[in-house]
Amino acid sequence: MPELPEVETVRRGLAPTMEGAVIAQADVNRPDLRWPFPVGMAERLSGQQVLGLRRRSKYILADLASGETLLIHLGMSGRMLVSGDPLGVFVHEHPAPEKHDHVVLHMDNGARVTFNDPRRFGAMDLLETATAEQHKLLAVLGPEPLGNAFNEDHLIAAFKGKNTPVKSALLDQRIVAGLGNIYVCEALFRAGISPTRKAGRISKARVAALVPIIRDVLAEAIEAGGSSLRDFRQADGELGYFQHRFDVYGREGEPCRTPGCSQTVARIVQSGRSSFYCRSCQS
Ligand SMILES: [Zn+2]
Repeated sequence: MPELPEVETVRRGLAPTMEGAVIAQADVNRPDLRWPFPVGMAERLSGQQVLGLRRRSKYILADLASGETLLIHLGMSGRMLVSGDPLGVFVHEHPAPEKHDHVVLHMDNGARVTFNDPRRFGAMDLLETATAEQHKLLAVLGPEPLGNAFNEDHLIAAFKGKNTPVKSALLDQRIVAGLGNIYVCEALFRAGISPTRKAGRISKARVAALVPIIRDVLAEAIEAGGSSLRDFRQADGELGYFQHRFDVYGREGEPCRTPGCSQTVARIVQSGRSSFYCRSCQS
């Protein structure tokens, strides 16, 4: 499942071919993904210039000249593919249409942007740009982890008196937007905080220290994603999935990476999600 760094990588990969370009034609090949597409989506997209691509949490927002914004959510298995880009950023030939190519945007610069999603947990919607933040998916979101509103005071206040495990608190999108299972595990390892510790029972100093750690963990992953774009590893034009080294995530039973620690990485299940951590380094 793509997390914030993967989505940001997709946004950065799409920007050179989409920003400033006109969607000459939009093909919408089915009536819905996770939810029905908005009425007349193909017509409302066709002929529209893309003024800019933004990201809010794990949503990509394409602001159109019409005053509408296209919201793109990759869901569990959604993929964005770019082909035929004339700018030379991606030089992939247009592939033959595939079964799960649900939405295809033919850009006026010759590029083609394809949304492919076999499991159809993804979503697309059109909203008024001016009131985009009030959209049902966006209105519930807390501050962006890389933005100024996510700071020490905010996190200390959000954790105060909270009886839930810190792992759950950090996955709560009202507290911080777009943070998912992988990067919460990584941030808690780096902070030396056990995922089972109650959020309200962590000292203010340790909560405050989590803020720059969360930012660093995400920023490093975004940088790795950026390298994947530059390195051209996505041979089929697919954006956003890249190799990244995790300290604990997915490493159950493997040695802890803290120098001098002889523990192995443990895995427990919290709220149905796996938590990876070191019992010795995190308390
Ligand atoms: Zn350890």
